[in-house]
Parts: sequence; structure tokens; C-alpha cells
Amino acid sequence: MELKGRVALITGGARGIGKAIAECFARRGADIVVADISYDSAAETAKELAAYGIKTSALKLDVSKADEVAAGFGEIMSQFGRLDILVNNAGITRDGLLLRMKEEDWDAVIGINLKGVFLCSKEAVKVMVKQKYGRIINIASVVAFMGNPGQANYSASKAGIVGLTKTTAKEYASRGITANAVAPGFIATAMTDALAENVRQEMLKSIPAGAFGTAGDVANAVAFFAAPESSYVTGQVIHVNGGMYM
Ligand code: NAP
Repeated sequence: MELKGRVALITGGARGIGKAIAECFARRGADIVVADISYDSAAETAKELAAYGIKTSALKLDVSKADEVAAGFGEIMSQFGRLDILVNNAGITRDGLLLRMKEEDWDAVIGINLKGVFLCSKEAVKVMVKQKYGRIINIASVVAFMGNPGQANYSASKAGIVGLTKTTAKEYASRGITANAVAPGFIATAMTDALAENVRQEMLKSIPAGAFGTAGDVANAVAFFAAPESSYVTGQVIHVNGGMYM
């Protein structure tokens, strides 16, 4: 599934799962825009990806800010002239039990995780409708389907992404644009590395595969949706969770 000649934007692409997606696309030949809230880390990742012989660019983009998103898409169009793939990956957590959750923590998570997907998808669709081609892939989470104590804001944002994905899919299917989501389970990241051993063991018990997933496992599912060959697959969610939810 080659992506040569395609231009892909990955939000939160400087590190973690976003970086793994960017690398996976770069290996398949896509030109990559790494967008992140920190320009310096986006630029570092974009520089690394250039080793694949593709065109890369770094963008300072806070996905929760409408003016920054509009300006960022303008920049992409002037540099690349098109946008084929948008991966809405940027996401944060601000955990706490519902009773104690601060309004600002609710707003921050919904603002970045859900409103950010809305803002970026809206800009992308403007471009993709004209091209009559586009792939939008949103990163949800297993907690959108299972809930998770301490993550009222996060699970609501991720469940919202699933509804938004399906609506985007229905609105633009006739224009050559697909919208799909990937819902990761527990993925080995700096966050899971830092967990106490007993907490890690408890988490592992809930995963039939007996191991955390990798960022590469998530990237491979995203790459399936991003491919030109996946044109008849839209409004779907791929669960990447080692069987912990099915
Ligand atoms: P991560 O390592 O924290 O990376 C997220 C990236 O997004 C960081 O580079 C971060 O920048 C950036 N970012 C934060 N706020 C932003 C904003 N407002 N605008 C643009 N970029 C922003 O997270 P991850 O573990 O790779 O997760 C990536 C996605 O997968 C998220 O949507 C997450 O919810 C989802 N997910 C992760 C897991 C998991 O187990 N890791 C499981 C299910 C779903 P800074 O570092 O500078 O803040």
C-alpha cells in the first residue's frame, strides 16, 4: 500500500504514536507535514523523516485554536499545493474522578481532543472536496467504548470522535473522502513505562494478548485507512488492543 505522491498531515506528530504514524507513512513514500504544539520538536521529527527521501515540513499548530489551524492549512497549501491525508492524533489527558474534576480540565481535554478534530477536519474537507480525494483518520481510544474511572473528560472526547468520524464519513463519502478511526488500547509509551510494576501487571491481566501494544501497531492500522486502496471503507473503527475489548 504505497503513499508515493500523497501529502499527509499528522497532528501531534512530533513524538509517540503520531511520530510512529509519520514514519510509517514516510516509509511508504508520502510527503509529511509534522504538526505539533511545539515547533522545535516538530522540526526535529521532520528533519529525521527527510532521511526517507521525501519532502517534509514542520508546523507549529495548536489544534484547539481555530485561527492557528486555518493559518496552518494555508501554509500547507502554499508549500505542497494539496493535502491527501489528515491524521487527527494530537491528544492529552487531565485525569481525575468526576466529582473532583475541574472545569478547566474538562475544557482542556475536550478542546484539544474533540474540538481540535473538528477544526482540522473542517479545514481538510475544504481542500479535499476540491480534490475529490481525501483520507481522514482520527485517533480514538478503547476508553470511548469501555469507559475508564478517572477519565470522564478523556473518554467523552474519544467517544465524541467516533460520532464525529461517522458523520464526516456520511457527509463526504460521495466526494471521494473517507473518514475512519483507530481505537488503541494500552500502548507502550513513556506513560506506561513510568507505571509501577504492580499497576502494569494488573493492566496486563486485562489484555488477552498478554502485552502492551506498540506505537507501530497503531500506525499499521492507520496506514490501512490512509491507502488509496481503502476507498470503499468509511465510517469504521479499527480496535488495536490485543483483545481487551471486542
Ligand atoms: P503523546 O506521546 O503525549 O504525544 C502527543 C503529541 O501531541 C505530543 O507531541 C504533544 O506535544 C502533542 N500535543 C499536545 N497538545 C497539542 C495541541 N493542542 N496541538 C497539537 N499538538 C499537541 O501521546 P501518545 O501516547 O502518542 O497519544 C497519541 C494519541 O493516541 C492521542 O490522541 C491519545 O489520546 C491516543 N491514545 C494513546 C494511547 C496510549 O496508550 N498511549 C491509547 C489510546 C489512545 P507536547 O509533548 O509538546 O505536549
